[in-house]
Amino acid sequence: MIPTVVVTAKGAARWQAGHPWIFRSDVVTERVPAGIVRVTDRKERFLGQALHSPASEIRLRLLSEDDTPVDRAWWTRMIARAAARREPVAARATAYRVVHAEGDGLPSLIVDRYGDVVVVQLLSAGIEAVRADVMDAVAEVLLPKGILLRNDVSVRRRERLPLETVEVAGSVPDLVEVSEGDVRYRVPLRSGQKTGAFLDQRENRELMGTLALAGGRALDLFTYQGLFALHLSRCASHVIAVDSSVPALELAQENAALNGRSNIEWVEANVFDLLRMYQREGRRFDTIVLDPPAFAKHRGALSGALAGYKEINLRAMRLLGDGGVLLTASCSFHVSRGAFFQMLGEAAADSGRRLALERIVGQSSDHPEIVTIPETGYLKGAVLRAQ
Ligand code: SAH
Repeated sequence: MIPTVVVTAKGAARWQAGHPWIFRSDVVTERVPAGIVRVTDRKERFLGQALHSPASEIRLRLLSEDDTPVDRAWWTRMIARAAARREPVAARATAYRVVHAEGDGLPSLIVDRYGDVVVVQLLSAGIEAVRADVMDAVAEVLLPKGILLRNDVSVRRRERLPLETVEVAGSVPDLVEVSEGDVRYRVPLRSGQKTGAFLDQRENRELMGTLALAGGRALDLFTYQGLFALHLSRCASHVIAVDSSVPALELAQENAALNGRSNIEWVEANVFDLLRMYQREGRRFDTIVLDPPAFAKHRGALSGALAGYKEINLRAMRLLGDGGVLLTASCSFHVSRGAFFQMLGEAAADSGRRLALERIVGQSSDHPEIVTIPETGYLKGAVLRAQ
């Protein structure tokens, strides 16, 4: 028998509104261990089954609204459904997200495929309690050669879970080679950012590969493993790719060699300083990618973050040649789409350039954003063209 947790009417209303979380203040029952629970209202009406996290502000995460047992077979069915949704993506890339947590109805579970190995993150105490079933289901559906748990994410602290990186099945190499479109790249699975790479920008990278001006000059700011630069370098005659991290640039250079590209210049610099210098020098680029890290890690950092985004966007706009294209993005959840586009408007006004909004972009389709769950979406961006 699984334990029962009782919630208030306000808690129940959240599920009715399409959001899977119920917070501490709306949970009536105390002292239930982490794991799967039945959830009822105060009148003992059954509401669904959920992951329970006794130490977290987010106490309950909805798994299902029926009473079918949430066992290994249940996880297998749900992961298989998520994997089936990725078929169009799998036709173009060997590295992509298979399970985007709440975005796939599987709260606090991330599953990323990198070729024949899989990287998993368990982000709540509730899901950690059923780790064996989840791992078995991942192995059964995806048939990987190895599974790596990248549980080295700080949100686990809020669940009172330890941070760890462990191989849980088969064998996982340190570096694995994958592809997206016709670009190949190597991913450091244990040390790379997130689960090894920024899979959420894959479709925007492919898009920029088609928008880069043939024979033109391109600039990839915050390049990390060099992926935008590699896509740009198919068309552009010369690409400058910038990052402040030496290990990232070393990997990027290896990726360029892997793809036989010699038209990329790798620059170790702080983007803020470099943009100021390029502006003084009067440089111009036909294609620019601006993909900074999350400047607003929490809500309190928002106004400073927006000032930072505005500064680099303004400077990038000024560097665009006539007809030039800028892809600009923010992966800060706390920067809303509204705030992002307002910032772009202010930067455009100050830049003195007339910029057309050619396309609004977001995270790749293997990171589904659920309309009723704002937390499933975080990446927003735009393609702007200078007239
Ligand atoms: N565009 C990449 C992801 C970028 S992640 C992709 O598509 O895969 C952000 C990168 O910005 C990291 O590699 C980090 O090292 C770099 N970075 C952070 N602050 C920086 C700064 N001020 N100047 C230059 N690079 C910076």
